[in-house]
Amino acid sequence: MTRPEAQSGAIPSDPIQFIDLAEQQRRIRALIEDAIRKVLDHGKYVMGPEVAEFEAEISEFCGAREVISCSSGTDALILPLLALKIGPGDAVFVPSFTFTATAEAVALTGATPVFVDVDEHYFCMSPASLSEAIDATKRAGKLRLRAVIPVDLFGTPVDYNAIESVAKTDSLIVLADAAQSFGARYCDRGVGKLGHVTATSFFPAKPLGCYGDGGAIFTDDPDLAEAIRSIRIHGRGTGGKYDNVRIGTNARLDTIQAAVLREKLKIFPEELESRQKVADRYEMLLDGLVTTPKRRPDSTSAWAQYTIVTSDRDRLAAELKNRGIPTAIYYPRPLHMQPPYRDYPVAPDGLATTESLCRRVLSLPMHPYLTESQQLRIAAAVKEVVSR
Ligand SMILES: *Cc1c(COP(=O)(O)O)cnc(C)c1O
Repeated sequence: MTRPEAQSGAIPSDPIQFIDLAEQQRRIRALIEDAIRKVLDHGKYVMGPEVAEFEAEISEFCGAREVISCSSGTDALILPLLALKIGPGDAVFVPSFTFTATAEAVALTGATPVFVDVDEHYFCMSPASLSEAIDATKRAGKLRLRAVIPVDLFGTPVDYNAIESVAKTDSLIVLADAAQSFGARYCDRGVGKLGHVTATSFFPAKPLGCYGDGGAIFTDDPDLAEAIRSIRIHGRGTGGKYDNVRIGTNARLDTIQAAVLREKLKIFPEELESRQKVADRYEMLLDGLVTTPKRRPDSTSAWAQYTIVTSDRDRLAAELKNRGIPTAIYYPRPLHMQPPYRDYPVAPDGLATTESLCRRVLSLPMHPYLTESQQLRIAAAVKEVVSR
């Protein structure tokens, strides 16, 4: 492939989607309709057979011993925190450069989110900043140290070995927020085998998405899994429907969503390969124009997003929009600077990298069905803008 030459002129007729869910649907629409029809026929809309079937298939896919499907990625974070009895007086370390749900889940349990900085290259929690935040929390002496929630932002797993070695000194539980990284691998472990417990999301735009809300929790700890399963259905015990052994909630995955996910899981490995090809092509086409995402040699990414870094971000976004190329900013404002979260503690040296990335990141169209000619158009437009 040759480097594209800058091309200007009218917006071509083949529109570029930021995330193209329609193309995937066209591909498997008949299979999904059949799967939904089966649910309509048997009528078990809540915890129907497709839920257990999907859990078995996804456990096989990622290697986790226990899989608990649930109603969203947000609930996939809340349920393990509740099962671990994390609440008021407890500190849970989270990045500020993430989607709201990571910190929100902690705050909802009554625990205190403590914000930690990320590293410049992988956009993921910095082990050094985590270590400083832990020391500062200990010195302040007000909170019990309980857990850390590293986020596999944009699809690349966090450096789990480094985070785990910091976490284990104080026996912190590692709850992996893998909402964007399901399908990725780290040091021969699939997402779902990282940390003590892993949460993922099946929101439609995530790498593996359903047609509504959905999520899942993975762990190898059978006792933790049992507590999470119970909390998912109102704290139910083993003595039947009205036997309650703890305070729980309603956080089940709908049968129809499980049926949709079973069909999507079949093409997911191939879609992950396509995402990788799209990322490889971007890297080649954008080399030297903007900072492209760095790859960890020991990991693969699920490429939930393809996020570049550039000092002239706002102008680039506006100019791309003018040329019919959609982009998104994940995330324009760090959580620790927003009203609901600004009174929570931050790492003692501050979150300079987080604040700087929020001004410079830009996510380009990314999905398995992005074509080479569309990527050539995107790269040509980027080149035209940044070289002016
Ligand atoms: C999407 C997302 C969530 C929440 O998932 P929902 O299914 O939308 O509740 C949590 N954390 C991160 C990092 C996410 O991207």
